[in-house]
Amino acid sequence: MYIKKITLENFRNYINQIIELEDGINIIYGNNAQGKTNIIESIFLCSLGKSFRTNKDKELINFENEEAKVTLEYKRSDREGVIKAELGDKKNFYINGVKQNKVSDIIGKVNVIIFTPDNIEIVKDGPQKRRKFLDMMISSLKPNYLHLLNTYNQALEQRNNYLKQIKFEGKKEEMLDIWDEQLSEFSLKIFEYRKKYIDKFSEKIDNIHKSITKSGKLEENLEIRYISNGKDKESFLEALNKSRKIDIKRGFTATGIHRDDFLIYINKRPVAIYGSQGQQRTTVLTLKLTELEIVKEEIGESPILLLDDFMSELDEKRRKSFIESIEENQVIITCTDDIENLNTKAKRIYVEARKMLILLPKEKRTRRKKWKNLNMSIMQNKYKY
Ligand code: ATP
Ligand code: MG
Repeated sequence: MYIKKITLENFRNYINQIIELEDGINIIYGNNAQGKTNIIESIFLCSLGKSFRTNKDKELINFENEEAKVTLEYKRSDREGVIKAELGDKKNFYINGVKQNKVSDIIGKVNVIIFTPDNIEIVKDGPQKRRKFLDMMISSLKPNYLHLLNTYNQALEQRNNYLKQIKFEGKKEEMLDIWDEQLSEFSLKIFEYRKKYIDKFSEKIDNIHKSITKSGKLEENLEIRYISNGKDKESFLEALNKSRKIDIKRGFTATGIHRDDFLIYINKRPVAIYGSQGQQRTTVLTLKLTELEIVKEEIGESPILLLDDFMSELDEKRRKSFIESIEENQVIITCTDDIENLNTKAKRIYVEARKMLILLPKEKRTRRKKWKNLNMSIMQNKYKY
């Protein structure tokens, strides 16, 4: 699948901008703070219904305006479509002009996988980042999962409120039984999804890791293990019962699938603790490439890769082999250098605060100069050839 065209209206620093993309490699480059990541963010918005940088949709609307629109035209193997996001007092999505009832209705139309330097957090930081990674992937494949998570979180909030009412207002403890019953039911469903996908990771991760570290001297075995405090409804219920007294004292629920984690081991040792900087980076790349494999298998075609500043993480040799490994996908890369040598067929787009210059791929280059001037003044001094 691939994105053909993006239209941005009052989105972040873009007032009115059309960006046409190729089914292949697209390199968006320019100095810092010009709006490269904003483009990636607009794609992500139309894919998963929200930004990957903020939970506040208001931040996506141009400072000087009240409403923003993003229109994304895409093509899959069996269909073409248009997704439109409207942000203002409310957030609305349209598929082929038809307004959708829920944000989650757009999920799965355009599948993206995002690579950013922040991905290292998945390995290094606390469980929250790993849960977010896993939840985002499963949600992108199973909109029902997102709905389930939201329902769980609502029930959890209600339980937490009730815990405080027991403590401060002397409400009856037995009432908690209702929440515990509900929470353990949802927990089991969420657990089953997570387990299924962790098992998929487990199946593939070691081979993918070996393929990207093939030049390494030491044989490394990569393993992933799911950590949850239950495995069936009874065990989730039991865990809640056990921590009830402490929960009342603290005013929040200390146990449940909102505390789940997964750990990664290299040669049986947790990579977060014992892994070198390089091993941690490679582990993240392995995780993302495994995600790519799983998504591809599930949807039956190649998802779109968004590499936000990710190339700066890799040296020249790794960049090349990475790009070769994702040849089938549409890839949208942002970077500060012109990494034209990466691939001579790549489409290059130079961005300078809302101005854009489309450069012909090296292969097709003639003396002809092609400008795509939409919202912009001319940037002759930036002209590269
Ligand atoms: P870097 O190379 O540093 O990552 P970038 O090109 O990816 O930079 P972006 O994050 O895409 O930069 O865009 C940042 C620019 O967008 C900043 O100049 C910022 O002030 C501007 N910006 C962010 N939000 C808004 C908004 N709501 N309205 C107008 N401008 C905005
Ligand atoms: Mg950026």
